[in-house]
Amino acid sequence: MGGGRGCAAWTRHQLADLMRLFLPPCCPLCDQPLGAKDQDGFCAVCRDAFRLLASPCCPRCSLPYAAADGSDHLCENCTRQEPPFVWAAAAAHYEGALRDAVQLFKFGRRLDLDRPLAALLLAATGERIRAFAPDLIVAVPLHAQRLRQRGYNQAQLLARILAKDLRLAAPARLLRRVRPTALQQGLPRQERHRNLRRAFHAQGAVAGRRVLLVDDVLTTGATLSACSQALLDGGAAAVAAVALARTSRQARLLDV
Ligand SMILES: [Zn+2]
Ligand SMILES: [Zn+2]
Repeated sequence: MGGGRGCAAWTRHQLADLMRLFLPPCCPLCDQPLGAKDQDGFCAVCRDAFRLLASPCCPRCSLPYAAADGSDHLCENCTRQEPPFVWAAAAAHYEGALRDAVQLFKFGRRLDLDRPLAALLLAATGERIRAFAPDLIVAVPLHAQRLRQRGYNQAQLLARILAKDLRLAAPARLLRRVRPTALQQGLPRQERHRNLRRAFHAQGAVAGRRVLLVDDVLTTGATLSACSQALLDGGAAAVAAVALARTSRQARLLDV
């Protein structure tokens, strides 16, 4: 993208922000005016369309189970290989209106979705986050090449708001993606994991810290695992992770 076009997009966004100061607040998904209770979020209709991730699910990676399965056991993946994170939680299922919202936020330059999505994430996972008592928030990083293409890292935008609400810091460069991982498709599972494991590097400033890792969508947990491992290798005391949405099957192994 040329600098000029990027500039125009930012200006439009800033203009929209400015207009919001004067117009009654509207739902960022359907544009209906928000009621007093809906401030800072979605309207009740859109919010009700999100299917929150309720139990039963894997206590470690939040993989949803069928109701009859109960939730007092680890899923197959976590049993086979214990994840490096203490737990990974998500707000809702990755489907319907939430999937639309995440895609607009991620690919559609709808940066104004940052606050409502962060509010949804905090409402669903805040209790667990506070119990974990993190001292740092770290977003799953994009590779510099992808960051240049997209112009922003959606996980970092969420991390920044969570940090503000939880009165913590969310420094942007503590965890870096040192190699692109988009070309993972077609690699055998073992190779893909090895590839992903070498993709991240954490700075020494994470040493001794309890880190909350933030991502947009949790698919197989492979990315969160690789990031958590990099943070632990960098000396982090413990890592827990939150994502906006969780896919319900582990079949899709590409998780970039
Ligand atoms: Zn709405
Ligand atoms: Zn699991």
